[in-house]
Amino acid sequence: MTRRKRPWGYSTKSHPAASNQWELHPDTLSVRGGLARSGFGETGEALYLTSGFTYDSAEAATASFADEEEHYLYSRFHNPTVAVFEERLAALEGAELCVATGSGMSAMFASVASLVSAGDHIVASASMFSSCYVVLAEILPKWGVTVEFVKGNNPSNWERALNNAKTKVVFIETPSNPMLEIVDIEMVSTLAHNVGALVVIDNVMASPVLQKPLQHGADVIMYSATKHIDGQGRVLGGAILGSEDYIKNTLQPFVRHTGPNLSAFNAWILLKSLETMHMRVNKMNENATAVAEFLSSHPNVESVNYPGLASHKDAAIVKKQMLGGGTTLSFSLKGGESALFAAMNALQVIDISNNLGDSKSLITHPASTTHRRLGPEVQAEMGILPTLARLSLGLEHESDLIKDLANALSV
Ligand SMILES: *Cc1c(COP(=O)(O)O)cnc(C)c1O
Repeated sequence: MTRRKRPWGYSTKSHPAASNQWELHPDTLSVRGGLARSGFGETGEALYLTSGFTYDSAEAATASFADEEEHYLYSRFHNPTVAVFEERLAALEGAELCVATGSGMSAMFASVASLVSAGDHIVASASMFSSCYVVLAEILPKWGVTVEFVKGNNPSNWERALNNAKTKVVFIETPSNPMLEIVDIEMVSTLAHNVGALVVIDNVMASPVLQKPLQHGADVIMYSATKHIDGQGRVLGGAILGSEDYIKNTLQPFVRHTGPNLSAFNAWILLKSLETMHMRVNKMNENATAVAEFLSSHPNVESVNYPGLASHKDAAIVKKQMLGGGTTLSFSLKGGESALFAAMNALQVIDISNNLGDSKSLITHPASTTHRRLGPEVQAEMGILPTLARLSLGLEHESDLIKDLANALSV
């Protein structure tokens, strides 16, 4: 893995992975990846709240800007605390490099916009988070980029869409928010590479713990770090991971000059969050599995969308590319929107909130909140019915979550 530049003042304790002795387990990397201690030997990672950096001489500044000397230049370009977060996440993901951003949407926008020019074409999966849809369907077309959405997983539909040499990006959200639809990453990546396009995966719903898209042929991964990476409802953040070639030659020139960078303070919060991410996400995944099973057998529930259920229409692909069904599910209630609102209002443990991936269980009504912006037609096209709720399972005890839902569904 390529290390970020370090100014001379740092000591990086050598660990077995750095000296190629053995490959550390992701759980170990999540607390030790990217560690770069200052000369004080602090155990907790240092927070460098600084916008700029000083140089010993005018010549040293010149050499630093000419890339002849290792020195931080300005926190819009890079910052030592942000660099620890980026290295740690890259190590966990198995990516060559990572660039952190201020939100998931700035990561999504930069990862795609840096790859396209007027006249280029994008192919995307049809079911996705509403702001990502707005970027693809409304913002990029204003700049002469054309976009086509492909529904579902049928290889012949993807083959038909991926026959255009102008296609530069294939953007996939899998599992999708809020329908939990699955796209076969390997199948689409093979077809995309045949036309010379890069595959960008929105891996937010799976989290870095439960899906490793690079191992299935994808080229670039983007995250909202706001979700499972922080996972404790504190800060916004984002990240883009990929090859050294993509990050250095395509992404970095774009983000350094457009400025969607992550603040050092938020990077410090997020890199501490990575230390517990595996434990949190695995427990949330267990809770989601238990709740999905409970809801599936409830008489008032019309349908449950959860990748971890054997009844999911793409269960075979889930098995191939995911390490668990995830922390989030959606379900439809019999009795219409009013019955759903009554049930949501009756919950005593689970909160009504439009965030997800949080240690607190959260429920929302996508049609009127997160996906409201899409309007009824696009919502219907994506299958987002007025009777649908999205439920993100947190770290509470499973028995309290099931009791809360059982009580609320009986009102
Ligand atoms: C939340 C979310 C985003 C955007 O992330 P922000 O941090 O809110 O900007 C992108 N994609 C998916 C799937 C999301 O759930």
